[in-house]
Amino acid sequence: MTEVTMDKIVSLCRRRGFIFQSSEIYGGLNGAYDYGPMGVELKNNIRDFWWKEMTQIHDSIVGVDCSILMASKVWEASGHVSNFTDPMVDCKHCKSRFRADQIDLKGACPVCGTRDSFTAPRNFNLMFATHIGPDSDSASTIYLRPETAQGIYTEFKNVVQSSRMKLPFGIAQVGKSFRNEITTKNFIFRSCEFEQMEMQFFCQPGSDDKWFPYWREQRMEFYKKMGIIPEHLRWHQHGPEELAFYAKDAYDIQYLFPMGWQELEGVHDRTDYDLTQHQKFSGKDLTYLDPDTNERYIPYVVETSAGLTRNVLMALSDAYDEEATPEGDTRTVLHFHPLIAPVMVAVLPLVKKDGLGEYADKLEHDLRQDFVTYYDQSGAIGRRYRRQDEIGTPYCVTVDYDTLKDHSVTLRFRDSMKQVRIPVDQIVATIHEENKKYRRV
Ligand code: ATP
Repeated sequence: MTEVTMDKIVSLCRRRGFIFQSSEIYGGLNGAYDYGPMGVELKNNIRDFWWKEMTQIHDSIVGVDCSILMASKVWEASGHVSNFTDPMVDCKHCKSRFRADQIDLKGACPVCGTRDSFTAPRNFNLMFATHIGPDSDSASTIYLRPETAQGIYTEFKNVVQSSRMKLPFGIAQVGKSFRNEITTKNFIFRSCEFEQMEMQFFCQPGSDDKWFPYWREQRMEFYKKMGIIPEHLRWHQHGPEELAFYAKDAYDIQYLFPMGWQELEGVHDRTDYDLTQHQKFSGKDLTYLDPDTNERYIPYVVETSAGLTRNVLMALSDAYDEEATPEGDTRTVLHFHPLIAPVMVAVLPLVKKDGLGEYADKLEHDLRQDFVTYYDQSGAIGRRYRRQDEIGTPYCVTVDYDTLKDHSVTLRFRDSMKQVRIPVDQIVATIHEENKKYRRV
């Protein structure tokens, strides 16, 4: 088994255009990342898969796309202004900053090794504050949203009224969130700007006992469908000290990241807390009139809250492998499920002369109608296969001299490295067929 380290992932991401440090030419900005040509395709594919599973395939879930900037009152109602804090300590010697709950305060500084060097813990609010309008006084203070969920709660009434949704139903949203994280190590695992994929499922009080286990099962299934190795996923139930005071129950899906088991997604039974808070702070009636029973009540909420950018890190770590090849060297390969692979098919002419380059170029253009493609004509064919393996391209099509005679090509599979000969006009259908039955070997 290959040891998958964060250094290997970071280096591959940089080398092959998945993820770069933000503002790198200016020395870099901590906790902020840019997604390159491969990274943005991977991230979009995970997002699209989540969106399809949650809104298109599931009964009665609709989407919204709310503003990142919201009225400050939202964050007072949600408790973020007063409670969204981490305890922070500084090392007096080297000035490094840590989350007090993540280090041993009686031990030495993890950076410089000095003992008894920590300041007393101070609570630090994780929200980024900014100002709206020309005056920068306290009345104009607003926050970049630290989670997407609150937009869903504030739009609850509008969605019910405009879309005639009946309980139980869900509202899904994908978007950027911002947290002024104290420690941003571990690459994109914890960053100050990140993306979330959240769904709030509104249901009748009491029926959360049915929907909470239902959504736990659905969300775990999702990752298996995405091709994640099941042994790398597990549940963690929040103990009494972790559980928010209003939550009835909460579970995290944890993934075995290179640095160990860590949270990937939270599934929470939030009761009627959020809507009750917003009703109180806004003074607006957020109750739901049940058309079947004529009862009025504030719905309960089961939340599924996943990090999209954290999913990208999971997908990369899970797919990464270094394998011995039959030729006696090693290849680095990303075994992405074809559903999320940044490039589906690469077209490679064996050589560029004698019309093979033109043939392959035209073929690649034709395939663009169906797939994200890649054209590569430089270097030895083996080297070109390795380049595709490194970005996780599931299929390579090679055009050779026989192609010019009989319009057949070699289709090469990334995982098994097997090659089959097929007619050009069957490439699209074959790839669709293979994708349907894809299983990681
Ligand atoms: P933690 O305790 O690790 O700070 P959290 O429990 O506060 O995280 P939630 O508020 O439940 O996290 O956020 C839901 C999801 O959003 C997390 O499971 C994670 O995937 C993602 N997420 C949260 N914070 C970050 C971050 N700083 N960078 C990247 N993803 C994040």
